[in-house]
Amino acid sequence: MVGISTTVMHADRDVHPTRSVARPIYQPAAFGAEDSESFARAAVEPRGSDFYTRFGNPNHAHVAAVVAQLENTEAAMVMASGMAALTTTVLALVSAGDHVIGQRSTYGGTASLLLNLLPRLGVSTTQVDQTDVRAFEEAFTSQTRLVLLESPSNPSLQITDLRAVVDLARARGVLTAADNTFATPLNQRPTDHGIDLVWHSATKYLNGHSDVSAGVVAGSAELLDRIWEVSLLTGATLGPFDSWLLLRGLRTLPLRMARHNDNGQAIAEALQGHPAISRVHYPGLRSHPQHELAAAQMNGFGGVVAVELAAGFPAADAFVGHLQYARRSASLGGVESLAVHPASMWRGMLSDEQLVASGLPMGLVRVAAGTEDTADLVADVLAAADHVVEVDGR
Ligand SMILES: *Cc1c(COP(=O)(O)O)cnc(C)c1O
Repeated sequence: MVGISTTVMHADRDVHPTRSVARPIYQPAAFGAEDSESFARAAVEPRGSDFYTRFGNPNHAHVAAVVAQLENTEAAMVMASGMAALTTTVLALVSAGDHVIGQRSTYGGTASLLLNLLPRLGVSTTQVDQTDVRAFEEAFTSQTRLVLLESPSNPSLQITDLRAVVDLARARGVLTAADNTFATPLNQRPTDHGIDLVWHSATKYLNGHSDVSAGVVAGSAELLDRIWEVSLLTGATLGPFDSWLLLRGLRTLPLRMARHNDNGQAIAEALQGHPAISRVHYPGLRSHPQHELAAAQMNGFGGVVAVELAAGFPAADAFVGHLQYARRSASLGGVESLAVHPASMWRGMLSDEQLVASGLPMGLVRVAAGTEDTADLVADVLAAADHVVEVDGR
């Protein structure tokens, strides 16, 4: 197998080859067939790319080929957002009466799926402390069909022991799916630990330029066939041009992640011990309670750092407001630095109790380091933290 930087350039080489050096954009919503037989064949081919764009498109196929090779799976699929990938996947795998295990610290949309949508459809759910393997073990019932993992988790960067949970699930014939958005396949490959399905908000690092909303899911061809069938009904199709942009972003993923990893580590180290900050959450810090587990299952720790402001909600807001380079924004994973105060972001969708249950303390700020110069970003976060101390002192 070739290296990752070669993979992102060449994994899609044999998918709809043309003499064009950059991939063409296949804009049509539908493709013509030569005869009735090839028409009938194209209509039922899972993730085919020459029938109707909701069923598949060459630009989807290019991205899927790269993602499948990066995640070391047989197949992958592109969808209109990370949430489209998750919801379609879960609807493909569970039915009324089934049970799903998720994490307490998890992306807000995933939490809302577990807390609000699935129970309405007759699917029961349990959210557990991801740092406690025993909690997973105790959550399994005879109805459990799926375990949804996220490591590192958004936004508090807790780590799940992927291999330990896979062992529990496999012994019970239960599928595992991991949200690999924060790590990316550069920093962690969940299938190496036995995970069945890997999904991403490709809006974040995979695209990397904050200009596309997209999602992907990768796994065995058999599972992806089932997910594809449901995707025809959820209809969350990624547009061809956005797929083309996503492919362009993927070409530089290894280059970008190297800088994100450096910047995340430097910011975490700089803010650790600052008087304005009560806690820094970053798996690359030796002080992270799960640093050894993270180091064992990851190759790098990413660009997201979560910090807790000692003085709570107003201090968190002041810290974000004082940053010069990181704009206040809900996203992450782009070349530009962004920062957010998650407690204020999720208040519309999750109740205060659900916020606390999802691990979102009021003083928590998530800084997503971009690819700017490390020294400039470090100086910026230190100036913002100093500013919070000054305001507090007055
Ligand atoms: C953003 C995000 C999602 C949701 O993805 P969208 O592309 O916004 O639908 C899911 N998981 C994680 C970890 C995220 O950061």
